[in-house]
Amino acid sequence: DPRIARISSSIRIIPDFPKKGILFQDITTLLLDTKAFKDTIDLFVDRYKGKNISVVAGIEARGFIFGPPIALAIGAKFVPLRKPKKLPGEVISEEYSLEYGKDVIEMHVGAVQAGERALVIDDLIATGGTLCAAIRLLERVGVHVVECACVIELPELKGRERLEDKPLFVLISG
Ligand code: 5GP
Repeated sequence: DPRIARISSSIRIIPDFPKKGILFQDITTLLLDTKAFKDTIDLFVDRYKGKNISVVAGIEARGFIFGPPIALAIGAKFVPLRKPKKLPGEVISEEYSLEYGKDVIEMHVGAVQAGERALVIDDLIATGGTLCAAIRLLERVGVHVVECACVIELPELKGRERLEDKPLFVLISG
């Protein structure tokens, strides 16, 4: 698909952010390219429309950029999965391990119902820990996670393996 090359070249790589040795994939430059941004959303919408998905769950923060336009286009609701202490209502939480220490994501109680079909979206999968926690959070309340989707996969970190049998769709790998 010729759209992928444009999307890929619109992503900027920033060395040593947020710390030394990390090559950070900066998707804010993709958002500046109106064609690349629209093509990104269209590629996801084409894949998920008509799949009976009632929830798009976006992971803070960059899942909040790509999730809502996809949700609107496929007729699904948008549910934010947030870092701790950001959501004002009653929440359920799921912990996950980082390279050093732990992190938590939270979702509002009542945002989703058992039996709903969800797509989980984020900008990037590295180790897969974040997406794994998001899947556990949704499955705990009886939601079926149909697939996870990201703009970028860093395949050398093998995040896909951590998702086990859960399908992962990405636009750019490597
Ligand atoms: P994981 O849990 O898969 O190791 O890390 C994925 C999470 O970290 C995602 O929420 C993603 O936004 C963030 N992340 C890690 N590395 C990068 C990066 O290079 N660029 C961007 N945009 N996000 C990153």
